[in-house]
Amino acid sequence: MRTKSLKKNTINVVTLGCSKNVYDSEVLMGQLRANNKEVVHEEEGNVVVINTCGFIANAKEESVNTILDFVQKKEAGEVDKVFVTGCLSERYKPDLEKEIPNVDEYFGTSDLPNLLKALGADYKHELIGERLTTTPKNYAYLKIAEGCDRPCSFCAIPIMRGKHKSKPVEALVTESEKLAAKGVKELILIAQDLTYYGLDLYKKRNLAELLRALVKVEGIEWIRLHYAFPTGFPMDVLEIMNAEPKICNYIDIPLQHISDSILKSMRRGTTQAKTTRLLEDFRAAVPNMAIRTTLIVGYPGETEEDFETLKNWVTTMRFERLGCFTYSHEENTHAYNLEDDVPEEVKQQRANEIMEIQSQISWELNQAKIGKTFKCIIDRKEGNHFVGRTEFDSPDVDNEVLIDATKHYVKIGDFTNIKIIEASDFDLYGEPV
Ligand code: SF4
Repeated sequence: MRTKSLKKNTINVVTLGCSKNVYDSEVLMGQLRANNKEVVHEEEGNVVVINTCGFIANAKEESVNTILDFVQKKEAGEVDKVFVTGCLSERYKPDLEKEIPNVDEYFGTSDLPNLLKALGADYKHELIGERLTTTPKNYAYLKIAEGCDRPCSFCAIPIMRGKHKSKPVEALVTESEKLAAKGVKELILIAQDLTYYGLDLYKKRNLAELLRALVKVEGIEWIRLHYAFPTGFPMDVLEIMNAEPKICNYIDIPLQHISDSILKSMRRGTTQAKTTRLLEDFRAAVPNMAIRTTLIVGYPGETEEDFETLKNWVTTMRFERLGCFTYSHEENTHAYNLEDDVPEEVKQQRANEIMEIQSQISWELNQAKIGKTFKCIIDRKEGNHFVGRTEFDSPDVDNEVLIDATKHYVKIGDFTNIKIIEASDFDLYGEPV
């Protein structure tokens, strides 16, 4: 049997999906480490925990294939145990137990104590806010809330993550201090809906208050905002973004669409006029802000005219950063009652058209950066390049700044001023100054 060659009693945590899943895996690993368990992240181990994603079709497929891969390894004696947790497991546990029975046990998204028990560990309350980060040492995600109260018609997240639940400011400050003590310089704030923060706990939108507390954490130099929502946006966040250099002039605000009839069907609670005005207010309040958004094309009933409206709007608004998904028909969501009437190839064609427009805009915006110098954080070295980011770039989704390592040396994990000498549609090339 080949198991003998494997490192014994090593728990391998495999993370799929979004930054919130990365965060949950890190919490799990922190708990396991505190129980003196040998734990690794996506390396060899004889016990495997797969933290799955259940958001849309592609992600679900990737999760199922990953489970099947490890079950095969188990049947081949290459791993001893396979456990599954995360969103796919939360959403489809009964089906998965029937269809892939050779998994040792399935767990939901709020089942950490039971998962730990199955791994021979105890849940340690005193560890709240502590985790084993898997991101490069200089940045870490900070999940400020879990769940979502919004009724977006296409979205299954509330089914998998439950109602919105904010974490107290004090707990988040303590967590940030511990991260800073470990060398983290950039905090990336995440939630399902960042701008809803505090409404449950403090009966008011409290994101600005949280930011005022986080900027006081020594060692943290950049704070980045992800997953804002357009309606009820707390404008005081822009004031502190302007006032506090630590808060990156950057915001990620998924807007999904802009045609009024589609926004209405999506139950987004906003209109083209209101959304456009909000973005104009952003630009007026923080002139050099980088705005990232995400769009969905091919939503049920999306006509050529709706799509033209979206294309023209993307061309006019000139987002600094933009991603585009094709609509995924998700069971138990409100939109599932509608006919998924846009053919897959048309959905894909529309997504390609949007990204073509965006790559041209991004190319033009990047050309304007040539000759300018930006404070950059250096994340890693890859081949002949050091790879960094400006405050306008979030890891994994935005532009990267490439520095020729055969000519220059910059310290990984440090901030360095980089002069941009060349630019493509999604990357910048520069040298330290
Ligand atoms: S705000 Fe985001 S997570 Fe919440 S329902 Fe809408 S799309 Fe889903």
